[in-house]
Amino acid sequence: MPVLRFAPSPNGYLHLGHAYSALFTAFWARRLGGAFLLRLEDIDLARRKPEFVAAIYDDLRWLGLDWPEPVMVQSERFAAYEAAADRLRDRGLLYDCDCTRQEIAARATGADPDGAPLYDGKCRLHGPAGGRPTQARLDLGRALELTGPLSFTVCAPTPLDRPQIRYARPELWGDVVLQRKDTPTSYHLAVVVDDAAQAVTHVTRGRDMEPSTDIHVLLQMLLGLPQPLYTFHRLILGADGRKLSKSRGSPSLRDLRAAGVSAESVRSELGF
Ligand code: GLU
Repeated sequence: MPVLRFAPSPNGYLHLGHAYSALFTAFWARRLGGAFLLRLEDIDLARRKPEFVAAIYDDLRWLGLDWPEPVMVQSERFAAYEAAADRLRDRGLLYDCDCTRQEIAARATGADPDGAPLYDGKCRLHGPAGGRPTQARLDLGRALELTGPLSFTVCAPTPLDRPQIRYARPELWGDVVLQRKDTPTSYHLAVVVDDAAQAVTHVTRGRDMEPSTDIHVLLQMLLGLPQPLYTFHRLILGADGRKLSKSRGSPSLRDLRAAGVSAESVRSELGF
């Protein structure tokens, strides 16, 4: 059975971009005769707030969406992420790194697809200095030696079933962090472990997430997990032509609702 999911992070209130992603995913779940699941991606414990969690449920119900319970909550699944990381570590694919952001930025000679400084591999070559908190990084060169070239299948958003093969370029990310200093996982590891645990068959996400999919297919291969199909949908842009974001003052769904906007008009403005 097709299984699709919407996986917001409760670090703020949902805005129109989230509404588009949720409605897009629910639309295709219904069209394919599959399930629409919700997952809370709350590994960032410092930014997660109970009122944001409550607002996610509330806003999605207001939009007319429904999902099966129980909802998967990432902060309850650290043991599963640790087990996956241990499997990589046992095969010599993870190493500890105690470099700070400042040190990494000072030595970097390039940037990853998100624009963050690329890690130069210092701790892979020389080990951590010791006495400082560590993060675990993937030894990307070694990982690629094991997997060889990787590809995945992308379906165009309309219609969802026009498949194209895409080659993955995880090397653009360098030795990514899979366990952060503050939690036993990172976004990349958690999303891959959970998509497999929820038997997700179609990952629907914004185009801005396209580059990180290259890391996800690499991790799926290393962990022996099934590879879903991928669809990258358009982003809802603000009047300034940039992606909506709370920090640039985009109104939340709650703000729109408080201003008297109906769920129906939000849905029709977004094309659903
Ligand atoms: N949790 C991520 C976010 O809120 C998206 C999840 C995904 O599609 O992998 O942006």
